Amino acid sequence: MCYEPVIGLEIHAELLTDRKIFCGCENRFAGRANTRVCAVCTGQPGALPRLNRQAVELGVRAGLALGCEIQPVSGFDRKNYCYPDLPKAYQITQFFHPLCLGGGIDLPDGFVRIERIHLEEDAGKLLHDQDETRTLVDLNRSGVPLIEIVTKPDLHSAAQAKRFVEEAARRLQYAGVCDCKMQQGSLRVDVNISVRRKGEQRLGVRAEIKNLNSYKAVVGAIEYETRRQSELLRGGGLVLQQTRRYDDSSGITLPMRDKAETQDYRYFPEPDLPVLTLRQEDIARIAQKLPRMPQQRREQYRDAFGLPDADIAVLLSQRELADFYEEAAAASGLPKETANFVIMDLLKALRLRGKTVVDANITPAQAATLVGMYCGNDARITHAGAAQILDILLDEGGQPEEIAREKGYLLIRDRTVFENAAREVIAENPRPVRQYRDGSGKVFGFLLGRMAAKLGKSFDAKLAAETLKKLL
Ligand code: ADP
Ligand code: MG
Ligand code: ZN
Repeated sequence: MCYEPVIGLEIHAELLTDRKIFCGCENRFAGRANTRVCAVCTGQPGALPRLNRQAVELGVRAGLALGCEIQPVSGFDRKNYCYPDLPKAYQITQFFHPLCLGGGIDLPDGFVRIERIHLEEDAGKLLHDQDETRTLVDLNRSGVPLIEIVTKPDLHSAAQAKRFVEEAARRLQYAGVCDCKMQQGSLRVDVNISVRRKGEQRLGVRAEIKNLNSYKAVVGAIEYETRRQSELLRGGGLVLQQTRRYDDSSGITLPMRDKAETQDYRYFPEPDLPVLTLRQEDIARIAQKLPRMPQQRREQYRDAFGLPDADIAVLLSQRELADFYEEAAAASGLPKETANFVIMDLLKALRLRGKTVVDANITPAQAATLVGMYCGNDARITHAGAAQILDILLDEGGQPEEIAREKGYLLIRDRTVFENAAREVIAENPRPVRQYRDGSGKVFGFLLGRMAAKLGKSFDAKLAAETLKKLL
């Protein structure tokens, strides 16, 4: 019997706000435990929450980036549960009226619908490995703003789920919503998964695998669960509705608790916060500030610039890189050559130095100048020369034109320089010259090499070969 997985995702993304969602504490990763806390985010009696405008704006950006409908009226609710990382014993979230509804992502193998996106606060962190006998609590993360993106159960393989998370993360990064560093926990994925017989419409009983913090874990958990549930059903067993966790080292999932046993969250509207209303013009203003999304850029790179898919994927991997490329391509007027330079030369040089376009010593205009200098019929430097000028630029600074001039990279256009060099080579190498004239083409490479040695950085292989042939 053949079973197929049915998957819905819940993606938590920490928002890149300056402050927490309901208080003035700083929102930052790491640092000393419990140094960014106050009465509100530690849940002291009588402390009142105040909604951070920037968190709402980033939530709206997320919704727009994912094609959702932003709700003009939404609200906050209390989700009650007891856990040591949650001092108030409730989480403020949006349950009854979320900020965004609908939307989705068009993947190569189908459209994946988004059910909702809501705003909520993060909980603190339990530290199990700092003390031998006790678990410690760090509340720096308590009250950090989150969005939760909930999809419809539209996904049907581990590869598709991975692609969905990748594209969602890319859009959130482009929109400046979240840095999506899974290893730091700023993007976390819960996988809901059931299996059913191929062709069956009804959904099976699902397991929920919590808090996956790498793409490898998302894929591993789905593959393991698909196998586990299919084998259970094939053997005549039943899948229990469970919350499970994934163990990275063994690649298996383990039960945490049965859904039936979990307590009721007793959701009710948060009495300490007013309804959240957004005017159409507020939404339009936020939409205007949104940078171009990766899917629009992908189309332009493919259709207008004629770039291959593999190159497009590299350029779009980081918004700052895509921005850099677009600015350089516009300045050079050579989108294809500029893409080659960025991917083959610039990224390689940056990798060697452990840098990115953000912190490296090069502007898009300088990259464009370099590309213009070695591309086309009136090239003034060689490609190899451009790569060396790039190294100098990155390490010592300066301007491409000046470096080329001062360090002798400019190709000599003067034919007499090439003719003189060719004459010298011919005079100095009588034997190879005789062999060449007797019809041995093989020695030409050697003679050209002698030309290169004489002309150094201004060696233009084409012009040198032409001149040498003529004089031979
Ligand atoms: P809960 O709030 O209990 O986690 P939801 O109904 O909000 O449950 O669903 C959460 C996620 O689980 C959604 O992404 C949804 O698409 C997915 N989901 C719901 N039922 C199933 C199922 N039978 N199989 C796979 N995924 C499911
Ligand atoms: Mg859930
Ligand atoms: Zn605080």
